[in-house]
Amino acid sequence: MNIARGGQFLVTETKSEDIFTPEDFSEEQLMMRDSVKEFVDREIWPNKDRFEKKDYAFTEETMRKAGELGFLGVAVPEEYGGMGMGFVSTMLVCDYISGATGSFSTAFGAHTGIGTMPITLYGTEEQKLKYVPKLASGEWFGAYCLTEPGAGSDANSGKTKAVLSEDGTHYKITGQKMWISNAGFCSVFIVFARIGDDKNITGFIVENDPANGISMNEEEHKLGIRASSTRQVFFSDTKVPVENMLSERGNGFKIAMNALNVGRIKLAAACLDAQRRVTSGAVKYANERVQFNTPIANFGAIRSKLAEMATNCYAGESASYRAAKNIED
Ligand SMILES: Cc1cc2nc3c(=O)[nH]c(=O)nc-3n(C[C@H](O)[C@H](O)[C@H](O)COP(=O)(O)OP(=O)(O)OC[C@H]3O[C@@H](n4cnc5c(N)ncnc54)[C@H](O)[C@@H]3O)c2cc1C
Repeated sequence: MNIARGGQFLVTETKSEDIFTPEDFSEEQLMMRDSVKEFVDREIWPNKDRFEKKDYAFTEETMRKAGELGFLGVAVPEEYGGMGMGFVSTMLVCDYISGATGSFSTAFGAHTGIGTMPITLYGTEEQKLKYVPKLASGEWFGAYCLTEPGAGSDANSGKTKAVLSEDGTHYKITGQKMWISNAGFCSVFIVFARIGDDKNITGFIVENDPANGISMNEEEHKLGIRASSTRQVFFSDTKVPVENMLSERGNGFKIAMNALNVGRIKLAAACLDAQRRVTSGAVKYANERVQFNTPIANFGAIRSKLAEMATNCYAGESASYRAAKNIED
C-alpha cells in the first residue's frame, strides 16, 4: 500500500479502496467494540456523578473491572498477558471506553499508554515478564513521572537526580514530579531522572513503596476529569535496582517522547464516542423540546447546528481511523 507521508495526503491522489474507514472493521473488532460499549453503559455511564464528585476509589474500582475484561491489555503482546491486537483495535477500545467521562478515560489512557508502553517498547525481557502481565491484567496500575515544577514542555530539563550506589547495585533517585496521573493508586512509576551531568535523562521502573522514600501531595483540584488521580510525587533517596533502568543510560528522553507520541492520536480517539453521544443526545432533545408549538428540531438554525455536529463526528472518526490504519501498516 502507498502511504502518504507528512502533508502528502493534501496533494497526492489516493484510491478510495486504500482508505480504511469504520466500515472496514473486522468481526473481531466489532465484537470488541460492542463489549466495551456494554461495559461503559453498565459500569460508567450510570455512575457519572460519582466521577464528577471526585470518587477516586471508584475510578480505581472501575479500572480493575476493565482489567478483568481484558481491556487494559488490548495492545500488549500475548506473551506478556495481553491480547496482542493491532493499533486500530487499540484505537477502537480507546474510542468507546472514553465515551462517558474523561475521568475514566484519563486513568485508562495514562495506564495503558504512558504507564505501560515504556516497558513494552523498551523493557528487557526480564522487565517485561515481571511487570507487563500485572499491568495488562489490572492487578497493578502504572503512572509516568516526567513533568517537574520547572520542566513541563521542556521535559528534558528535569532536575530529578539518579545517583549510582558505591557498590553499583542500585540508583538513588531524588526529585519532585508533578501532575502525575494515576499516582494515587498506582503500583509502579516510570520515572525519568538525570545521571550526573548527562545531556539527556534516563528512564527507570520504580515500584511504589512509601517505605522507600516515596511520598505525595493531596489530589489536585481540577475543573474537569475530576476523579482522575493527579498528584505531586516526591522521591527522596529512593533505591532502584540497576536492573530497573529502562533501555540505556541517557535514552530516557527518547522513551518519554515515543510513549507520548503514541498517546497523541489516542487522544483524538478518546473524543469520538463522547462526540457521538453528545450529538445523539442533542438530536433527541431537539426533537422533544417544543417552542412556538414546534419541536425545535424543525428550525433551520437548530438543524444547521445538528448537521455541523454530525459532520464533525464523521470527519473526526474518518481521520482518526484512517491514520490509525496507516500507523498499523
Ligand atoms: C491533568 C493533567 C495530567 C497530567 N498527567 C501527567 C502525567 O501523568 N505525567 C507527566 O509527566 N506529566 C503530566 N502532566 C503534565 C503535562 O504533561 C504538562 O502540563 C505539559 O507537559 C505542559 O507543561 P506545563 O504545564 O508546565 O506548561 P509550560 O511548559 O509551562 O507551557 C505553558 C504554555 O507555554 C507554551 N509553550 C511552551 N513552550 C513553548 C514554545 N517553545 N513555543 C511556544 N509556546 C510554548 C505551552 O504550549 C503552554 O501553552 C499532566 C498535566 C495535567 C494538566
